[in-house]
Amino acid sequence: MPPILPAICGCTRDALASALSELDETCAYRTTQLMEWIWKKRATDFEQMSNLPPALRRELSARYTLRPLTVVNQSQSGVNGARKLLCRLQDDELVEMVLIPAAVGDAGTQSRRLTLCVSSQVGCAFGCKFCASGLHGLKRSLTTGKIIGQIFEAEHVAGQRVDSLVFMGMGEPLANTQNLIPALRLITAPQALGLSPRHVTVSTSGHVPGLKKLADSAIPVRLAVSLHGPTNEVRSRIMPVNRRWSLGELIPALEAWQAVSKHKITLEYILIAGLNDAPQHAQMLASLAQRLRAKINLIPYNPVQGLNWQRPVEAVCRSFCRDLLSRRVPTTLRYEKGADIEAACGQLRLRHLS
Ligand code: SAH
Ligand code: SF4
Repeated sequence: MPPILPAICGCTRDALASALSELDETCAYRTTQLMEWIWKKRATDFEQMSNLPPALRRELSARYTLRPLTVVNQSQSGVNGARKLLCRLQDDELVEMVLIPAAVGDAGTQSRRLTLCVSSQVGCAFGCKFCASGLHGLKRSLTTGKIIGQIFEAEHVAGQRVDSLVFMGMGEPLANTQNLIPALRLITAPQALGLSPRHVTVSTSGHVPGLKKLADSAIPVRLAVSLHGPTNEVRSRIMPVNRRWSLGELIPALEAWQAVSKHKITLEYILIAGLNDAPQHAQMLASLAQRLRAKINLIPYNPVQGLNWQRPVEAVCRSFCRDLLSRRVPTTLRYEKGADIEAACGQLRLRHLS
């Protein structure tokens, strides 16, 4: 097996400058040239870097890779064009991403805006009872380079740049702040990927220490929280993480986030028949959302092979949504984009593992 090399797209400008100085290239313009090849021209091979001396290109390619993962399987949703990509890492582990085109507008116009859902870990340690990603536990966290490498690979497949990014693929991003925060800095730095932080959303199952670290990083990304239950009793039934950081700890941490963030928090709420879809759940959820001044994203449960939950019938989902709206809580009911391609996190990988 060829050696596993670090992804160069995980390096900051300072890290590149010191790597170049180890190779006796101390001029700042070399670092700028390398940055441009990586970030602006999206080089896929060091040989394309025509303004770098051939010996330097060879040295760099012996130390780094430009493509830390490759797409090995794709499935396209017939419904709304969401495209799920299964990626193989250099050590054969698999991660997933989903390309989500903008919805067709009211006038029937299709915007070219593209959202990418990326993974932060291989598998997940948190084992939520509705989620395919946690079924086989955590293999490992992704490095900064592998988090960013997903974006380059997806853009290559899509033939266009992505406009926004959501960390809603496999894994718990806030259990990997060590790699996530440097990745967010590169993703939002104008001289690197240059996405506006308001177009980047980090989703967490409620990892309270990670939330504090993300707040301390002062990167003004958006926050989504997988709530899925309005009480500790309901939440603990489906999310073991709630036994570690219960609502009593999570809600104050979200209030602290909300106090300094320009954006509303999004509460993600999967509707599961007979578990969390009753009118009293809507009422308690509305109170929580009002307290946090949050908006709510309702997602009817997407069946996962091996798990026995059911999606509520459409009338129940619609009435739950109406209930929240009538309490003046901004709410969307999102039929999972690409449910027909197993788009909920971890599902495609699960099929390949089983
Ligand atoms: N670990 C983070 C990031 C992963 S996003 C978190 O939990 O927030 C995980 C999201 O995928 C969940 O909030 C949910 O919105 C969605 N999801 C996972 N399994 C699902 C399922 N079976 N049906 C519908 N959505 C699901
Ligand atoms: Fe992990 Fe999030 Fe899935 Fe829970 S929902 S198992 S935290 S990826």
